[in-house]
Amino acid sequence: MMRAPGGPRLLLRRLREVMAEPVIAQARLDRIVVLIASNMVAEVCSLYVVRADGAMELFATEGLNREAVHLTTMRPGEGLVGLIASSAEPLALSDAQHHPSFSYRPETGEEIYQSFLGVPVLRGGATIGVLVVQNRARRAYSEEEIEALQTTAMLLAEMIASGELQGIASQGAPIAVRRQLSLKGLGIADGLGLGHVVMHQPRVTVSTIVADDVESELTRLETAISAMRASVDSLIDRSDDGVSGEHRDVLEAFRMIAHDRGWLRRLREAVSSGLTAEAAVERVHNDARAKLQRQTDPYLRDRLHDLTDIANRLLHQLAGQSLVLLPEELPENAILVARSMSPAALLDYDRARLRGLVLEEAGASSHIAIVARALAIPAVSDIANISEIVEQGDAIIVDGDAGEIYLRPPADVEAAYAEKARMRARRQAQYRALRDAPTVSLDGVSIGLHMNAGLLVDMPHLAETGAESIGLFRTELQFMLASRFPRPGAQQQLYRAILDAAGERTVTFRTLDIGGDKLLPYMKGLEEENPALGWRALRIGLDRPPLLRMQFRAFIRAAAGRDLKVMAPMVSTVDEFRAARAMFDRELALSVGRGYEPPRTASLGVMVEVPSLLWQLDEIATAADFLSVGSNDLMQYLYAVDRDNRRVANRFDPLSVGFLRALRSIADAGERHGTPVTLCGEIGGRTLEAMTLMAIGYRELSMSAPAIGPIKAMTLTLNVGEARREVEPMLAKGRENASLREPLQQLAERLGVRL
Ligand code: PEP
Ligand code: MG
Repeated sequence: MMRAPGGPRLLLRRLREVMAEPVIAQARLDRIVVLIASNMVAEVCSLYVVRADGAMELFATEGLNREAVHLTTMRPGEGLVGLIASSAEPLALSDAQHHPSFSYRPETGEEIYQSFLGVPVLRGGATIGVLVVQNRARRAYSEEEIEALQTTAMLLAEMIASGELQGIASQGAPIAVRRQLSLKGLGIADGLGLGHVVMHQPRVTVSTIVADDVESELTRLETAISAMRASVDSLIDRSDDGVSGEHRDVLEAFRMIAHDRGWLRRLREAVSSGLTAEAAVERVHNDARAKLQRQTDPYLRDRLHDLTDIANRLLHQLAGQSLVLLPEELPENAILVARSMSPAALLDYDRARLRGLVLEEAGASSHIAIVARALAIPAVSDIANISEIVEQGDAIIVDGDAGEIYLRPPADVEAAYAEKARMRARRQAQYRALRDAPTVSLDGVSIGLHMNAGLLVDMPHLAETGAESIGLFRTELQFMLASRFPRPGAQQQLYRAILDAAGERTVTFRTLDIGGDKLLPYMKGLEEENPALGWRALRIGLDRPPLLRMQFRAFIRAAAGRDLKVMAPMVSTVDEFRAARAMFDRELALSVGRGYEPPRTASLGVMVEVPSLLWQLDEIATAADFLSVGSNDLMQYLYAVDRDNRRVANRFDPLSVGFLRALRSIADAGERHGTPVTLCGEIGGRTLEAMTLMAIGYRELSMSAPAIGPIKAMTLTLNVGEARREVEPMLAKGRENASLREPLQQLAERLGVRL
């Protein structure tokens, strides 16, 4: 076996020196390949870098024809270099030319070299380059030599990822690792944000690759492994008593990996071969990731996430760094990037510095989405692998409206988005200017615009938007964000804080609306075949009276001396509402009996969102103090479409004859009985829908904060009576294609309504 002069340690030290030299990138690469070739006693050393178009371009060589640099390229899978890139594994051959994948390139002059050793240059589990050494004579490369070349490749990965090589590829082609990318995901919070990537869980940069003392490095590794295991165990213990929101399955998977013998053995072997503990974690993880990434089995790919998390924990343990970015370390114009994130973690950051949020996983109705919307942070989720693709500080654009992100945008794209953001800001300024103007239509009809909320962080929007009141306060959010059932004191405290923040404006609290898609992690045993039709909302409250009574008590005490409005969700029969009212009245009497100051006024309303109520409208309008239409659920139940199932959720249009007739009958019933009617579903916040609602008799709409400005602007240009005269015949006639969207759109144009 040939001996490398000075061994890998000397090579790495020399390479570090070269990397620090103030020379241009190409000169640096040229020096590097010479150094590697001489240290590995090879006649040839070449570096191929993967370009954005997938081709592998020869970036530097010692031994092959220099003219071939930036000329020779291999397509993915082509030649031995392509094979290494796609398998992400080293390849050592003593007779390379007879390998079936060998591809002869006359310009390189490589036909005289028999032996070949190539290793992938890996970053984030992806191959970003291939490093090759070749020898003229037939020879076998030892395990040690393969390891040494892999270690060298780690150093080159840093250099390629730094962006230094950008622009030196043939004709300035971009290289893969820093290429611009436009990725489509799922918009979970509207808005546009331009800024720079900040990793919620920053990666640890491994700067020292070779250890000075193998024994002490092994000790460091063992200490870190024990600490990491202890931290995983304590997470599991905490989740047992409901303190942590982490999912138990995930934690159990963590525990399995943290104790996995094969993984630990590979780590120890890597350290024994001379790497620092950090470099060993990176190496073993890169290998595992490259293998798992080629898996199509979703279960195994999920394990990849767990493995990445565990490796990350271990690296942080070794570096003595906190696992997550400390909120006070957040730079300006930050776009947070995370695989997933808890709402509490997002709330910890300084809102003023955040421009956006990008996640690998989080549904539109997930808790993090709700919090992002409340904080008005543009957010996109479902961007696979994003936390592996980005580098800290990369320029990035988040388009929450379109559900897209743009990574490392070129100047023209950035300018276009900046213009879009400016236009948005101008529109917002126009809406702000309307804040104190009364919402009155052209023909003098007054419209009440109210705001939906669910968190204390929503409350500043009340004054900012000029909304009349909180028309829907979703109390379940406090329960969903907590890791255990909020105690009565905590409930009362939140409701009082909300009433304080609302000041003179009223708040309509909705009783707990859980079940269906809104599950509480600490309420176990609620798995149902058909949860939307299951045990949810008021049904739970009526079956478990202490729960509902506790909440009523919290409302009553929090609203001492003030107006209190409470409404019940998912009411199917008038009796259910009467039972709830009896409980409320009893709690009120009990509170007064115990000497608590009662609310100044108390009114109790009903959400109309279960279709059965449509045929009990006169009775319910008499029994309740007010009605509030939950159009999201009413649509779901009337059309039998799961609102969270992307396949069917948009199959039917709320602007359909059937749905609009149902909505009109509720408004009419309210009118007949003098019972106020509000609508608080999503459609109230869309301009064309709101115009139509006004035309069929709605005068009070409750919506998300950002919708209030546009709806007010629309109302100021609308003649409600005129719209009513046009919409009535459309509803009377019906249409074969039930959606009225197009004719309504044309109507708005004809009437000059600003949509
Ligand atoms: C609705 O169903 O329309 C509603 C406002 O309530 P939620 O979306 O919380 O079910
Ligand atoms: Mg509802």
